[in-house]
Amino acid sequence: MQRTPRLFIDGQWVSRTDHLFDVICPSTEERIGQAADASEEDVDTAVRAARRAFEDGPWRRLSVGERAELIERAAELFGVRAEQTGWLVTAEMGVPISTSVMLARRAANTMIAWAELARSTPLTEFRTAGGPTAVVREPVGVCAAISPWNGPVGMAVGKIVPALLAGCSVVYKPAPETPFDIAFLVDALREAGLPAGVLNVVTGGAETGRLLIRHPGVDKVGFTGSTAVGREIGAACGSEFKRVQLELGGKSAAIVLEDAEPDQVRAGLAMGCFFNSGQVCAALSRVLAPRRIYDEVVSWMEQAAGGWVLGDPFDSATTLGPLVSERQRMRVENYIGLGVEAGARLVCGGGRPEQPGKGWFIEPTVFADADNTMRIAREEIFGPVAVVVPYDDPEDAVRIANDSEYGLHGAVFTSDPEKAISVARRIRTGTFSINNFVYNNRVPFGGVKSSGIGRDSGKEGYESFFELKTINLDAGTAPLFAP
Ligand code: NAD
Repeated sequence: MQRTPRLFIDGQWVSRTDHLFDVICPSTEERIGQAADASEEDVDTAVRAARRAFEDGPWRRLSVGERAELIERAAELFGVRAEQTGWLVTAEMGVPISTSVMLARRAANTMIAWAELARSTPLTEFRTAGGPTAVVREPVGVCAAISPWNGPVGMAVGKIVPALLAGCSVVYKPAPETPFDIAFLVDALREAGLPAGVLNVVTGGAETGRLLIRHPGVDKVGFTGSTAVGREIGAACGSEFKRVQLELGGKSAAIVLEDAEPDQVRAGLAMGCFFNSGQVCAALSRVLAPRRIYDEVVSWMEQAAGGWVLGDPFDSATTLGPLVSERQRMRVENYIGLGVEAGARLVCGGGRPEQPGKGWFIEPTVFADADNTMRIAREEIFGPVAVVVPYDDPEDAVRIANDSEYGLHGAVFTSDPEKAISVARRIRTGTFSINNFVYNNRVPFGGVKSSGIGRDSGKEGYESFFELKTINLDAGTAPLFAP
């Protein structure tokens, strides 16, 4: 049922029989269903429903506590479907089943955390500077949200739930590779009592996304995806003064200092470089190693790559699945070719594994003797490919780490806490990890430079769904706000 072409508009699932596209399972290479390619009319109907729900519906008039209660009910309903959701995500994008189920459970818990955060975030502040004033937060309006395929459930929760808690309405477009799993979240919210029109889902590709972000009924766009598309969306929103939040690509550096703990490097960079087959925006795909222990770091990286169990993602013993699509594998293979051509040394991987025979698999790959001018060290590969670049001293490492178009994440590996913080403060990124690869979805997440604008998650992510209104009070109204 979840794998049929449907849109969710104004509280109803609407079936479609034409303008469909195939959804292919990356491990079996077989079609798992067809999804609807939403047309201009579909997008317009969805945005109008969201607009009506925002302007005239009950949702934004409820108290935050009432909205939070509904989200908690939905989280419970969603949580009991974590296994089914995980299975569908694995079929859509190939992440191993143990990971996808864990991520679906985590997404349900995150909904509860968002509800708690909303309850504890004051929306009105009384100030006296220059005269009595109330600074109030009001929902930004109709939000369009567009996601990539690499973390579908968590991404949907992160884009939809804080917007709903703020009193906004939402039109959500998942990636064309992962159009189905969103149904579990939609049904949970609907069964919990979300009013019609507050959440709408349109499926489709780039054109559907373009229509959505340009629709005049949209007040805010939240986009996660590639830097090239983010640039286009930023420009389109800028000319209309639409609020826009962009979470884009990265080429994050992990600086290994001479006093690093080998086990921490191996464990942190196994996850940082290869988790989800490297299809992670915050991946630590550039490893900077000091010349004095360069060969050791390269061998730790080889071990980090060798610890994964590649195979059928529906098998609970598998830890690494295929890439999402044939196109993605071609892209990664092209980069591996560019690395070899540029003179980098292939330490391990670099090809397709013999087993399993089907699926868009690629071996975890490590390049050594790369320098930071090579394309494999500058461009986002979005596959299981790590590049080890040598450096002379910590100053040089900081310079190389910052010599990037991107600024999403970074890491340092050292046994000296002071050095760790000193390096962390000098790298221009939105997030940073110490002796590990951490993705924490309860704190601000986002990038600088070409990695985007704004922050998802945490209090700051929640607050991005509000506009500030300053009300200059008089003697009669000030006591209504004064503590
Ligand atoms: P993509 O930019 O091609 O597509 C992302 C989404 O945008 C999809 O839903 C797609 O249909 C839609 N889209 C494509 N063109 C559009 C357009 N012109 N207008 C509106 N919508 C459009 O990215 P992808 O290949 O699906 O995902 C991989 C990229 O996402 C990588 O660059 C990765 O770094 C990035 N990413 C970033 C984060 C982050 O938080 N910074 C997280 C995950 C992925």
